Amino acid sequence: MDYLIIGGGISGLLTAYYLDQAGASVCVCDQQEFGQESSWAGGGILSPLYPWNYDPAVTALATWSQQHFPDFLDHIHKESGLDPEYRPCGMLVLDQMIDSKVEAWQALSGQTLETWDTERLKQKQAGLSIDGEQHVFLPKVGQVRNPRLLATLLAYLEQRPNVSLRPKQGMKALRLNAAKDKVLGVETDADVIDAEQVIICAGAWTNKLFPDANINVKPVRGQMLLFKAVPELLSTIVLGRKHYLIPRRDGRILIGSTLEEVGFDKAITEMARLQLQSYAYDLLPDLQDYPIEHHWAGLRPAAPDGIPYIGRHPDIEGLSMNAGHFRNGIVLGLASARLLSDILQGNSPVVDPSPYAIQTPQSADNPV
Ligand SMILES: Cc1cc2nc3c(=O)[nH]c(=O)nc-3n(C[C@H](O)[C@H](O)[C@H](O)COP(=O)(O)OP(=O)(O)OC[C@H]3O[C@@H](n4cnc5c(N)ncnc54)[C@H](O)[C@@H]3O)c2cc1C
Repeated sequence: MDYLIIGGGISGLLTAYYLDQAGASVCVCDQQEFGQESSWAGGGILSPLYPWNYDPAVTALATWSQQHFPDFLDHIHKESGLDPEYRPCGMLVLDQMIDSKVEAWQALSGQTLETWDTERLKQKQAGLSIDGEQHVFLPKVGQVRNPRLLATLLAYLEQRPNVSLRPKQGMKALRLNAAKDKVLGVETDADVIDAEQVIICAGAWTNKLFPDANINVKPVRGQMLLFKAVPELLSTIVLGRKHYLIPRRDGRILIGSTLEEVGFDKAITEMARLQLQSYAYDLLPDLQDYPIEHHWAGLRPAAPDGIPYIGRHPDIEGLSMNAGHFRNGIVLGLASARLLSDILQGNSPVVDPSPYAIQTPQSADNPV
């Protein structure tokens, strides 16, 4: 094995995908079944929410991913026989002007924007109860259904001779084995694995596994509600008043989400259920006719400004990282994994790697 990846969420699995494509052999381990944490819990919107509010480093990864997601999803769909339920349904941002911030982001991302007045909005999407006069529609934004994306990607990776997914029952990495600032392997709750190249993709648990003053990833809980509605009710993602609605292909509608700093507590709360439910009823009153089917929570891996750590650790030979994607790990995931694979395999990087590099006092003294 060339690389050992710790963490089998979207970051770890996509990293395995691109390293395998580049000709390397990889082993992915997880402390439980693969893809059951934040990557499972998320909404699957293939865009940051209010994308103009983000640092250009986030826009760069999102833009590359958005350009390559359709082909990638088509490829793993065909190869695995499973459907990740990609849906290019667009994203409507309520009560939004095209101001200078939006224009600057548009120039950077090249995204198509439409402005809708209330009349147009009513023609396109009936049933929404809205206040503002002007709205922005992003027709190219799509979505995936997270659990299905993960199942598809896992089924694809399982067929690859140079990818080992071990073990399905869970194997927790306890600590890195290192000598003289060089990785030797990983100690797990099952055994010790020798590896010269270790990649940490442990999401919100990154700092628990690797407590390093230069890395700052903390958990931020998000709760979601799922309504069992019908396809006619909503045709596009709707974002407004701090929350959002996501219509799945089969008519189910997700309502997201909360932002809560409660450590590693993944419990759901009655308060959040009421908050999301009343938001949904206010915005789309017809939802009151449909039952709530599910309520869950996930822990987002929050790095400062939502800019993930992608690259080699400058002071520990053989250690790399792809973690800290906060609210955007699905949309940023494809580009992040490709970027890390490019760095590790010595290929020309698809985006400038410098904004995501791990900075340590030593690396700051020696930028070369
Ligand atoms: C409610 C909610 C809504 C969201 N909506 C969106 C959205 O619409 N679009 C979008 O782009 N993003 C969204 N996100 C964010 C996105 O889901 C995350 O950024 C992304 O899933 C992070 O992926 P990851 O693989 O880094 O982390 P995770 O999916 O959390 O995976 C980390 C993995 O590492 C494993 N692990 C941890 N420690 C160890 C250890 N010591 N040993 C072995 N394994 C270990 C865990 O078990 C886990 O499987 C949302 C998140 C939430 C919670």
